Amino acid sequence: MSLQERDKKHLWHPLKQHQTHPNSLGIVKAKGCMLTDENGNDYIDAISSWYTCMFGHCNPYITGQVAEQMQTLDQIMFSDFTHEPAIKLSEELIKILPKNQNRIFFNDNGSTAVEAGIKMALQYHFNKGEKRSLFIALENGFHGDTFGAMSVSGLSVYNGPFEDFLMHVERIPVPNGENNQAIIDQLKQLVSKQKVAGFIYEPLVQGAAGMKIHKAEDLDIILQFCKENDILTIADEVMTGFGKTGSNFASNEINTKPDIICLSKALTAGLVPMAITSCTEEIYTAFLSSDIAKGFFHCHTYSANPIACRAALASIELLQSEEIQENIQQITAAHSTFANKIKDHTKITEVRYKGVILAIDLKTNSSRYGSLRDQLLTSFMNDGIFLRPLGNTIYIQPPYVITEAQLNKIYTTIEKVLDTF
Ligand SMILES: *Cc1c(COP(=O)(O)O)cnc(C)c1O
Repeated sequence: MSLQERDKKHLWHPLKQHQTHPNSLGIVKAKGCMLTDENGNDYIDAISSWYTCMFGHCNPYITGQVAEQMQTLDQIMFSDFTHEPAIKLSEELIKILPKNQNRIFFNDNGSTAVEAGIKMALQYHFNKGEKRSLFIALENGFHGDTFGAMSVSGLSVYNGPFEDFLMHVERIPVPNGENNQAIIDQLKQLVSKQKVAGFIYEPLVQGAAGMKIHKAEDLDIILQFCKENDILTIADEVMTGFGKTGSNFASNEINTKPDIICLSKALTAGLVPMAITSCTEEIYTAFLSSDIAKGFFHCHTYSANPIACRAALASIELLQSEEIQENIQQITAAHSTFANKIKDHTKITEVRYKGVILAIDLKTNSSRYGSLRDQLLTSFMNDGIFLRPLGNTIYIQPPYVITEAQLNKIYTTIEKVLDTF
C-alpha cells in the first residue's frame, strides 16, 4: 500500500479539512533544493519547507555537526544544567542580533516563542508594580496557534470556537505612509484609556498575510511611539529571521530596536524544532529579585536541546559565510529582474520582493482558500515545483543554495501557469 493510502488510517494533518482534501503526498527523500515523492517524482522546494531549510535539505555540514552532537550529549534539563552548545549559541546570536539584545531564552517552536514573549512583557510590567493587560498588534498579522499567539494574530477567521477565550488585543492597520498619522492618533486614544503592555509585529514582511511588505521608516514611527509610552515592542522574526529579508534580521533594517525578538523556523535549518525569545538586559533585570515569584517560570521540557543548539550553530556559521551572503544578493537581484519582467502581466495586480522573498498577487475574485488556490498548487506540482499559494498570492522563498537553473525553472513555470489559469 502507498504511503498516501496508509496515511489515511490513523493520521490527522494540520491545516487540513480531511473530508474535502483526503490525500497527502508521500515524500521519501529530500536533498538540497529537491524533494522526491513515493512515485519517484522530483520537485523543487520553492518555499524551503515553510522557510526552514534555507541551506538546503540534509545539508551535509549541518547534519555532520548534529551527528557528532548526538553521540556526545543528547538532552539535558536546562532548568538545572547548562552546556557548551547553548552557551556558544547565545554568544553567536548576541553578535548578530540588534545591539540592544542581551538575553537568550529557549522555547521549542514559533508559537511558544511568541507565547514567552507575551508573558515576558506582561510580567515585566507586573514585576515593576504596574498592571498592564492590553496588547496591540498589526491587522492581518500571524503569530502562531497557541492561545496567546492566536489572540495577537489578526488572521482570525478560523478562530471562531476560541474567540471567547482569547486575550484582549487592539489592532492597528499596517503603516503605509499615508495612514501613519491616523495610526498615531489611534494609539494616543488607546493609551489615554487603557494600560498597554506591548506591541507585537512581524517586521517588514507579514508572512501568512501573503508576504505583505511595509517600509522600515513607517513602522519606525509606531515603534518610537511605543518606546515613549513604555509599551514593550515584540518583533516576531520567526519567518523573517536569519537572512530572508536580505539582512540577518529584519529588525536590523529598522531604526528603533525591539525589546523582545522571537525566532524559530530557519534557526535550526529545518533539522529539529527549536525557538528562541531574546530580550534586552533591562527586561531580564526586572525579573531579578529575592522573591522567587518574580522569576520567569515558563519552561518547555526540550529547552535548549543540545542537538537543536548544534544545528543552529552550524546554520548561523553558514549564514555568515561569504558564499551564502553572495547567494542571497544574487537571488534578490534575480527576483528584481523577474519582477520587472512580469509586473505588467494582465493576470497580476502586484508583484513585490524583499531579500529572497518574492510574492505575486493574482487578479481574481476567488477567496483565500477557494478552488483556484488548489488548482494552482496542482499545476505547479505537475511541473515539478512545490510552492504553496496563500489564497490568491503566489510566493516563493527558495533555499539560499538554490542554483540559477532551478530558480529560472521556478520563474518560467510561474509564467506558464499565469498564462493557463
Ligand atoms: C510560523 C510562524 C509562527 C509560528 O511558528 P510555529 O513554529 O509554527 O508555531 C509565528 N510567527 C510567524 C511570523 C510565523 O511565520
